[in-house]
Amino acid sequence: MKNTEGLNPDKIKGIPWHTLEAKEVLRVLDTSEEGLSEKEAENRLAMFGYNRLEEYKTKPKVEIFLDQFKDFVVGILIVAAIISLFIGLSENSISEIYDSILIIIILIVNALIGTYQELRAEKAIVSLKKYIKLIAKVRRNGKLKEISSEFLVPGDIVLLDPGSKVPADMRLIFSSDLYVDESLLTGESLPVAKDANIVLDEDTVVSDRLNMVYSGTVVTHGHGVGVVVATGSESEFGKIAKLIREIEVPETPIKVKTKQLGKQISIIFVLIITFVFFQGLLLLNDILLTLMTAVSLAVAAVPEGLPVFITLILALSALEMAKKNAIVRNLQAVETLGSTSVICTDKTGTLTENQMTVVRIVTYGKDLEVTGNGYRPEGNFLLNNKVIDPSKHDDIVKLIETGVMCNRSEITKENDEYKVVGDPLEGALLVLAEKALGAGVIDKLKRKYVYAHEIPFTSARKRMSISYLDNEGNLVSFVKGSPEIIIELSKKILVDGEIRDLTDEHREYFNRKVEELAKSALRTLALAFKITKPVKEDIQSMLNEETLESDLVLIGIVGMIDPPRRDAKEFIEKAKKAGINVVMVTGDHALTALAIGKEIGIVEDMNEENVIHGRELDKMSEDELVEKIDNVKIFARVSPEGKVKIVKAFKRKGKITAMTGDGINDAPALKLADVGVAMGKRGSDVAREAADLILVDEKFPTIVKAIEVGRVIYDNIRKTVAYLLSSNIAEVMIIFLAFLFNWPLAMLPIQILWLNLVSDGVPALGLCVDPPESDVMKRPPRDPKEPILRRFDFMRITYIAAVITVLSLIIYGTYLNVDLAYARTMVFSFFVFAELFNSIAMRTEKESVFKVGIFSNKLLIVSILAGFALQFALIYVPFLDFIFRLEELKLEDLLLAIAASSLILIFEEIRKAIYRVRNRL
Ligand code: ADP
Ligand code: MG
Repeated sequence: MKNTEGLNPDKIKGIPWHTLEAKEVLRVLDTSEEGLSEKEAENRLAMFGYNRLEEYKTKPKVEIFLDQFKDFVVGILIVAAIISLFIGLSENSISEIYDSILIIIILIVNALIGTYQELRAEKAIVSLKKYIKLIAKVRRNGKLKEISSEFLVPGDIVLLDPGSKVPADMRLIFSSDLYVDESLLTGESLPVAKDANIVLDEDTVVSDRLNMVYSGTVVTHGHGVGVVVATGSESEFGKIAKLIREIEVPETPIKVKTKQLGKQISIIFVLIITFVFFQGLLLLNDILLTLMTAVSLAVAAVPEGLPVFITLILALSALEMAKKNAIVRNLQAVETLGSTSVICTDKTGTLTENQMTVVRIVTYGKDLEVTGNGYRPEGNFLLNNKVIDPSKHDDIVKLIETGVMCNRSEITKENDEYKVVGDPLEGALLVLAEKALGAGVIDKLKRKYVYAHEIPFTSARKRMSISYLDNEGNLVSFVKGSPEIIIELSKKILVDGEIRDLTDEHREYFNRKVEELAKSALRTLALAFKITKPVKEDIQSMLNEETLESDLVLIGIVGMIDPPRRDAKEFIEKAKKAGINVVMVTGDHALTALAIGKEIGIVEDMNEENVIHGRELDKMSEDELVEKIDNVKIFARVSPEGKVKIVKAFKRKGKITAMTGDGINDAPALKLADVGVAMGKRGSDVAREAADLILVDEKFPTIVKAIEVGRVIYDNIRKTVAYLLSSNIAEVMIIFLAFLFNWPLAMLPIQILWLNLVSDGVPALGLCVDPPESDVMKRPPRDPKEPILRRFDFMRITYIAAVITVLSLIIYGTYLNVDLAYARTMVFSFFVFAELFNSIAMRTEKESVFKVGIFSNKLLIVSILAGFALQFALIYVPFLDFIFRLEELKLEDLLLAIAASSLILIFEEIRKAIYRVRNRL
């Protein structure tokens, strides 16, 4: 555009925008109502930077690292190691010195791993937040566009709708009944009425600047257009938000459960370890060694690293999900998803494509078919199978005019592809107009009128109207909405270009037509208008629902197709197999819902028993609903309050309920639901903020996929816990039993530490990312009250621990006769290998791991190979074997240790086979 070189941050800093006329603001910012050019926007972005705030900071790394040593047992171990170091130094005992240094090194390595995990988790949580993007409707080069609000620059023209968050500080240039909730900024809880047309004094405080809207506040009602004056940290919110929040790592239920489990286990272990300690004192006659053994066992046995580990798994999976279009807004949701038992999904856009095309137009006495595809404005109008010229029919022309004037959306063409910015339903009406009356018709119609007022669509009102002044000074309102409502609000009807009284005969005709269209899965919409002669001075007092949306003149109805998504059926089937009840909750007509529901397999037939109408729902008591709800598959014409009622009823039945929503009024239902689901683009920011899960692609299958991930993660956490626990129990038991048999200490403290902190930690990492077992989506949802380890898991853990313990005792007993150090090397090696095999065995509960495929978990395979390699190094590399007090094993003994440890896998395979036979799987 014009000279833009001049605009820079310094030049506009501190300008009191609220004191300027809107026009003046546009001039200063060198922009216009048509918006900036793309190129200029790009230049400004380079100059002003992204419109975002760095909201989070992480804890200092050193602090996290030091935190790792806060643990009591670890503390004792360090003290013991230091004492032992001094004794070693004073007695000049090399091995004691090495021992203590090594223990300290292992603990440091362990702390580093812990720190790394915590940092990784925090990083994942922060990057997850970055996936949640605000979308702004901006006008650039005269065209309406949706862009991520990060790219907004001063001078951009932004449209504000109800439920949207204000993306930057703006001076309003247009407002219609605009109310904004500014509590975030000012603490004022009531929405503030805004007005683009006023000019204020310089000393007006932020909370009174009625011609401005501020970043982070929320539009609760009405519409507005603003010009961006400040972005990012220059915005009012940016200024106060400089107090950067520390990121919080949430306490998810599963973490709490693991902590509890950890405590319970610790109590048992502490008893055993205390016994080991006293027994050791008697047998070994070496207080320090005994103490270190006992404490090493305690460090080993108590899984205090688990909670961090779990956060890490949850955070990483959440990040993985975000890449696949499912953004969880809190980690808890990952877990809850796994136990979801009901999905209440909306229809339009989630189950269907949200690609609307008008295919039928019905006015009184005329029933037209419209041909054509998608949003391409080409097609014919057929009356009784004959092509007609719609412009010759006054009622059709009026219907089309109403569709264009009661409309906030735009059609754009990009590379020969037609797209709707705004509501697809409105897009369909624009396309219809162009099909009927040619390309320029939309602009031509709009030039006929001067905008006066809009009453927006909400899912509660199920209608909207936009009113204008025509050139004769009449107030004309154009109304569209669900047929039931519009017919009820109409007093007259347009027949062949003539306004007549609306009779029961007309009503019956239209009701019949609506049913007919709905039954063939069409979305129906009625159009009407009203002309009022205003008493000139008092036009403001007429701009309300009572005047503008009453005594309407009905024109007709349209039927639109909105084809079901291709994969919807498959995923509904999948959800059903997984024991998840899929229920459709829609604002649409019962019959349309039913017809679509049948197409995609939510219901088997068109039986209306499956449907509850919003009217009935509102009348029903909660108890009644609870009683009926199991048989209902579709809720039609539902209001936002209806949604809340549905969620409540399902929750009372103990179901874990996912509920989708998009409108500003859906927030309560989304909050109440166990998993509130909002859409990435469609719908309001308010809904997105209330949700736990955001579907970027807005598709139903993504919900099911997210549930699957939730289930897999839970399985994997359970596997990992079971794995670590079974290994730890075996370690404690071998030391304990060896003492009972009056044998010497079976493993040395460094060996125990190594085994736990290093050698079983790596496979555990692999287990966490294990691919799903084949039945994840074939079994019923997990009961959220179920403990992390079920009876089954405890029995399995005991079984595996017993096998390992018995085998290691046999090995120890046998080789003790040869040499103590050699026997310990055998036991130690056996343990390392056994844990590697155990990690494979743990992958499946009932299926053979060979069926799942040994190589289906690459990370695990790599960590197992690394585990073997490392152990060979410890045994055969001279210096290492000295530090770890290992003897060089003869080849046959090494092979024996490996063979013995592989028995774990074999014993588990046998158990699984028996399980399968018993349960006829
Ligand atoms: P859903 O999204 O569940 O299909 P909505 O609550 O969006 O249901 O719509 C309910 C009904 O309201 C639709 O069947 C249609 O008749 C009407 N409707 C939908 N969108 C609009 C709109 N933008 N303007 C006027 N009426 C609408
Ligand atoms: Mg809708």
